[in-house]
Amino acid sequence: MVRPRKDRLVAFEPEVSYFKPRGIPMIELAEVCLTVDEREAIRLADQLGLSQEEAGRRMGVSRATFGRIIQRARRTVADALISGKAIRIDGGNYRIVMDSRRFQCAACSHQWEEPPGTGRPSACPLCSSEDFFRTVPRSLAPTRADAKRSDTQRRS
Ligand SMILES: [Zn+2]
Repeated sequence: MVRPRKDRLVAFEPEVSYFKPRGIPMIELAEVCLTVDEREAIRLADQLGLSQEEAGRRMGVSRATFGRIIQRARRTVADALISGKAIRIDGGNYRIVMDSRRFQCAACSHQWEEPPGTGRPSACPLCSSEDFFRTVPRSLAPTRADAKRSDTQRRS
């Protein structure tokens, strides 16, 4: 019996999903595959510089599991850079969660979102009241069916 793997949480979804070395015809081009959760691991550990513990927490996995994800991700990217291969970013076990923060004004009932990590807003953007509170983020609301996406593609 195969134990289902838990989805890794991914808070970043860029448009670009393919990288190709210049000057090599597609027909001769070798390709490696980086999963979406592996790219997220690179973003958290190598772009943002988070510890493996913190990065694992953000992806909903243990430090040890994060260590395995990032190791595999780095090896794949290194293979592409050193051997001149294309990188396809696709698949993996993941769920997109945009962790923006949602607020509601107590004075005028206006609701708005703030990106993560920008601190508490000073006032309601509509009526400038300082009487506002935090509500459930949209990404956690049950109505957002498209927030959950998973793909059980396996690689050897
Ligand atoms: Zn207001």
